[in-house]
Amino acid sequence: MKIGVLALQGAFIEHIEVLERLGVEPFLVRLPRELDGLDGLIIPGGESTTMSRLMLEYQLHQPIKDKADAGFPIMGICAGMILLAKHVPDFSLQSLGLMDMSVRRNAFGSQVDSFETDIEIPVLGRQPFHTVFIRAPIIEKANSTVEILAGLSGGTAVAARQGRLLAVAFHPELTADPRVHRYFLEIVAAE
Ligand code: GLN
Repeated sequence: MKIGVLALQGAFIEHIEVLERLGVEPFLVRLPRELDGLDGLIIPGGESTTMSRLMLEYQLHQPIKDKADAGFPIMGICAGMILLAKHVPDFSLQSLGLMDMSVRRNAFGSQVDSFETDIEIPVLGRQPFHTVFIRAPIIEKANSTVEILAGLSGGTAVAARQGRLLAVAFHPELTADPRVHRYFLEIVAAE
């Protein structure tokens, strides 16, 4: 299995390490041709505006969109989740517009911009998942085609799946628990 990690900006190294620990060969993606032959792609956390601008500049935007439309699995983390969403209020740049949901950037404000908490993610099993949120977005609205996988205690949606696309507001690469990555690899492996 060949999994690419978009390496234009942001926290991509940590994903490379998780994939290696899971016995999967990771590939850094900076050029359109580096998408060839991949079975899936991770869009890491970082700064969604910068990443969006670089994706357009490096001519990765349309190829990624086309592949996703043809069923290519993508996991978007934090800024990656913003880039997967169809609707992002206050976002002057272009998202990939792939998942039928509205995502609000920096939803926890500047006072509490980072926090950690344990949440339940039923698709990962009974044991709660320790989550790290860093200037994270939230899912404000989602179409019925989007399955909400996890929420905070107040109900705020923070992880979702639509077909082979997975969007996660927190940073699973920063904890030792590989279950989110493993779940994505199962999506990739399933035909
Ligand atoms: N706040 C960032 C943005 O709007 C996302 C932060 C992150 O990826 N950790 O793009």
